[in-house]
Amino acid sequence: MQSGQIFIGGRWQAPVSGESYATINPATEAESALIAKGDERDIDLAVRAARRAFDAGPWPKLPAAERARMVWKLADLLTANLDEMARLETLNTGKTLFDSGKVEIPFAAEVFRYYAGWATKIHGETLALRDNAFTFTLRHPIGVVGAIVPWNFPFLLASWKIAPALAAGNTVVLKPASLTPLTALRFADLCQEAGVPEGVFNVVTGPGAKVGMALVRHPGVDKIAFTGSTEVGKQIMREAAGSLKRISLELGGKSPNIVFADADMDAAVRGALTGIFYNKGEVCAAGSRLFLEEKVHDEFLSRLTERAQGLKVGDPLDKATRMGPVVSAQQMETVLSYIRSGQEEGARLVAGGDRAKVGDGKGYFIEPTIFAGVKNSMKIAREEIFGPVLAVIPFSDFEAGVAQGNETFYGLAAAVWTRDVAKALRAARAIRAGTVWVNAYNLYDAALPFGGFKESGFGRELGQQGLDLYTEVKSVWVDLA
Ligand code: NAD
Repeated sequence: MQSGQIFIGGRWQAPVSGESYATINPATEAESALIAKGDERDIDLAVRAARRAFDAGPWPKLPAAERARMVWKLADLLTANLDEMARLETLNTGKTLFDSGKVEIPFAAEVFRYYAGWATKIHGETLALRDNAFTFTLRHPIGVVGAIVPWNFPFLLASWKIAPALAAGNTVVLKPASLTPLTALRFADLCQEAGVPEGVFNVVTGPGAKVGMALVRHPGVDKIAFTGSTEVGKQIMREAAGSLKRISLELGGKSPNIVFADADMDAAVRGALTGIFYNKGEVCAAGSRLFLEEKVHDEFLSRLTERAQGLKVGDPLDKATRMGPVVSAQQMETVLSYIRSGQEEGARLVAGGDRAKVGDGKGYFIEPTIFAGVKNSMKIAREEIFGPVLAVIPFSDFEAGVAQGNETFYGLAAAVWTRDVAKALRAARAIRAGTVWVNAYNLYDAALPFGGFKESGFGRELGQQGLDLYTEVKSVWVDLA
């Protein structure tokens, strides 16, 4: 990985502007790396390289088993370089080393393995429609994929796009979030090491709106796979209307975590904590609205508050730390302004509510924060905060809990906690979200589709549906008359 460079056509090179910027370690506020400030000219070069690799290069024409082996090799290299990848992720995002090293990079490697398996299983169908015709479908790779990813799970969310795209024979231009490009750049090295043909995988760093939008607008790009905010997702959709390039959008959320009175309380308290405080609440699927059935509300809230106050906030490299800093000074200000808004709208602050004091006072640390007495109409219950702030809302019965849970523009995820199987299944059907966990929170698998209803976007990543995002179906009719 070359300081201040981007990866295009299999080579490291300086951006056309010749400029760079520094990434900041959110735990120390110190500069951590020098990153190339790419712009539309670099995107043009990268798209041309990806285009050549798709139109004239070996990649889409390789025997599927060879592509499978290459994608699998990338997984092996990720595993072999796990410690370094995890450290880079932690340095960039402030997530704990446990999260990056034990959860996210291993999961990313698993995603590569999962899609390596699919490379040889992509097939069309034959349809026996008429006696005088032979009709069948083919699945083709779409072409050049522009992947745009956010800063909260920089490499993991990139892997959800890169692995199926490559397995299906596409080529990729990745634009990481400007705050968190380190693992994407390091992965380019791994592609070189694996022998991925030139131009098949490219990375361009730089300011989001400029570089990202250049990718969306570029006529040489066939598909945009985007994960990020709903606002930018809408901009991308408007822009893509001009060319009708394919898009898939994984956007924000305000997910309901619904605890019924008959739930296993210990498990539900743990689930509520993970639901909101994993990765400092910077999780698209965070259980940021906790609905508690009135009968258990007070006891549950006091147990949850006690546990939240005991969560160790601190150096993400320290094994004892449960919550690192939020990603940037700007994000910290956003979260603190939501906390002020909760207070102004009359919600009751029962835990946290301020910056957390860690070490010498440097770093963007925020206390695990819980508001009780929240109404769904309050800003802290409507808008995605993307930080460690939980809104607790009481409800009276099943119908009221599910209805309030559904009262949101988003529909990414939800959870229900109950010992009653029928109740759990009724809730899982009634909740309008792409994922519903029962007696669990934040569980993912490479084989299980993930994505949103409503303004949380469309398209499903992971699983077979995640592969379908990277192929076009062609129908062939052979006249036998
Ligand atoms: P963001 O929308 O600001 O940025 C996402 C990516 O788009 C970044 O790479 C950014 O540089 C780029 N970008 C910014 N403006 C752009 C523009 N005008 N055109 C093209 N690209 C542009 O989001 P973020 O702040 O990085 O991430 C947080 C958001 O991502 C949250 O809303 C969160 O819910 C969402 N998210 C969703 C999922 C999911 O799977 N649904 C997962 C993680 C995060």
